[in-house]
Formats: sequence, structure tokens, C-alpha cells
Amino acid sequence: MFVLEFKVKAKTQQYQAIDDAIRTAQFIRNKCVRLWMDTKGTGKNDLYRYSKELAQDFKFADELNSTARQASAERAWSSISRFYDNCKRKVSGKKGYPQFKKSRSVEYKQSGWKLLSPKTVKFTDKKNIGVLKLVGTWDLGYFQESDIKRVRLIRRADGYYCQFVLSCDVKEDVKPSGKCIGLDVGLASFYTDNNGNKVDNPQFLRKSEKRLKRLQRRLSKKKKGSKNRQKARQRLAKAHLKVSRQRQDFAVKLARCVVHSSDVIAYEDLRVKNLVKNHCLAKSINDAAWYQFREWIEYFGVKFGKITIAVAPNYTSQNCSNCGETVKKSLSTRTHQCKCGCVLDRDENAAINILKRGLSTVGHTGTFGLDPINAWGENTSTFSEAILSFASNLCEPRIPVSLERGVSTSPIHLNDS
Ligand SMILES: [Zn+2]
Repeated sequence: MFVLEFKVKAKTQQYQAIDDAIRTAQFIRNKCVRLWMDTKGTGKNDLYRYSKELAQDFKFADELNSTARQASAERAWSSISRFYDNCKRKVSGKKGYPQFKKSRSVEYKQSGWKLLSPKTVKFTDKKNIGVLKLVGTWDLGYFQESDIKRVRLIRRADGYYCQFVLSCDVKEDVKPSGKCIGLDVGLASFYTDNNGNKVDNPQFLRKSEKRLKRLQRRLSKKKKGSKNRQKARQRLAKAHLKVSRQRQDFAVKLARCVVHSSDVIAYEDLRVKNLVKNHCLAKSINDAAWYQFREWIEYFGVKFGKITIAVAPNYTSQNCSNCGETVKKSLSTRTHQCKCGCVLDRDENAAINILKRGLSTVGHTGTFGLDPINAWGENTSTFSEAILSFASNLCEPRIPVSLERGVSTSPIHLNDS
């Protein structure tokens, strides 16, 4: 699955119709959550049935396309089943009890819309959204209409967007590079690999951080409920949007480059859940960038038929990558220095540990204990070649990582909200 996104160009009255559709979708989703809370044993099919009933009871719900109503019920169900899942797996901390949500999008399945041309889409339900012009560099004409599984309309700080979720994932044939790479993520640099190559944190993160702080300060100074406050909020929202786009762009390019040039990529298994909301804005922006980068690594891993391994992040910086001895160090110690004579940059040492751990996980078990879609491309021989070259790879000359150009328009990852 991947997503193509366009900006929508339409008349004010059409934007209002989109807002109305979004509101209706939100209504159905929240009603479904309510039903589940109130009625013990409510299942997915009950929610589908309920979304039908709502259409009989409320005119505005009836106006929304039936598949869009279903999709709203599915959204409710996905937050319910996530909750069940967390309970079953005995996840520590919050289990994510389903909440009522303010939604910013409405999703249609395979009806309720029609592509009139690669750059125009018509919504055919009774919400009267009508024909929308699509602005963007993608060419939908390249795909079959049956490949489009979902169409979403999204409201953002700077306007309305239309996403097309496509099912066909195009695989690319990439020659094995004979290289394995381990990545250690840090605040000092974006990542360090097992050869000691560092990729710096992008400048824009620092700049945006300053800007966000300033706008936030301005917003808090404005009188509540005033026009100026509203304007300031709008400006802040736009700035956030801009950072997230820059981050996305950076993550895509870098991930593509890394996966293209290695056969096995090992990195720490960082989860969104553990990326706590931090007071340090630089850190939280950085964490988000890292998480996105990881998702893209996995995306390109599948696409290029490479192996991606997420390893447990414990002790990777404390253990000696040469002899395995634990060498305690504080965050400020930048050099790893071991009794065995091994002296390395702290992050480089960690990156080697990550790569070793990744390879050992895969090597010993034979069945990989990892999600096969993420862990495996189709090319098995690539993997053994990569293992064979592992030893020589560790002492290879250092080649600086450079970003490839011309990939800024890569598809966006599925992101259920
Ligand atoms: Zn050592």
C-alpha cells in the first residue's frame, strides 16, 4: 500500500461540503465508540450494522456515501481492537482506551467518487462536494482505477488535501551492494554507522525549532478568543506543518540512499510509544524524524528487496564491540575506551554492536522471529552474500554518505489516524 497526495483546489462552498462530510464521519466514528462503551460484547459487524442504522436516523449521515460510513465504523473498530490488543499483550502503562476524537478527514472506499481525469475527481454522494481539481506532480493516469483502494479528504492548516491509497506496490530490482550497515541514532548527530560515518542533524530542525518557539510565545501572549489569537494559532499550525514536511523529505531521501547502498540494515527498535513528549523541543523533533526515517527504511527495504532488522536497543552503547565487556559511560563521554585496547567513537561502537546484534539475531534462529514482510525481500542470496562480506565490511575504507537527488516525490507511508 502506498499513498499519493494532492492539494485540492475548489470553491468555498465545496470546502464547506468537505467539512460537512468530515464532521459526519467523525460523528459516526464517535457514535460507534459510544455504542461499544455502552454495550458489552459489541463486535466489528455490530458497528457496521450500527452505521447503517445511523443513516436511517440522521439525514446528514444518510447523505454520506455508504462506504465512507463503513470506513468511519472501521476507524472506531481499529482503535477498539488496538486497545484489546494492548490488553492481551499486557503492554505496560496506558492501554489506549478508545476516546472520542476530533477528526480531520473522511475516507471513501471504492465508491462515492470517480476519477474524471488524472487531475480531477468527482464525489458523487449527497454531500455535494462535486468536482475537485487535484494539484500535484503525481500522475494517477499511470494506475488502474481498481488499484485505488481508498480516497481520503483531509483538512490541514493550509488547506484541503486528497489522498489516494493504492494497493500495487512496485518492486524495484536493485543489485546487491555486498554491504551491511548498523545505525546508531543520537542527538549529537542524526545517525552514526558502524564505519564511523556520521550524518548530521539537518539544519532546518534547529531553525524550525527557533521559529516554533517564537510563534508559540506570541500565541500565548494574545488575548483568549481574540482575532489575533486565532491568526497566531494559524501561523503556528502552518509552521508545524512545514517542519513535518521538511522532516518527511529528509527522511525519505536519506532512507532511500541508505537502503540502496546496503543489503542488510540494522538499527535500534525505537517505538513511538517510547518517544515521550519531551520539553526539549529539539529532542522531540529529532525523535519524530528518527521514527519516520525508520519507517522509510522498512518501506524501501521491501521495495528494493533488502533486509531490515530492528534490534533491542539495550546496552548497545555500554558494551565493547570488540570483546563484549561492559564499559560504563555517562551521556557526556564521547569516546569508548576498553581494557582490551579498543578505542572508538562512542556512537560508532554502538553502531557496530547494533549491526552485530542484528546479524546474530537473524543468523542463529533461521526462522527470523521478525515480521517476514519487513525482514525479507525476495532475494535470499543477497542475504548470504551480505553475511559473507560482513567481516571485510567492518574494516572497509570510510565512504561518506551522500544524499541522492531527485526523489523528493516519493509516496507517503500509510498513516492511520
Ligand atoms: Zn573491549
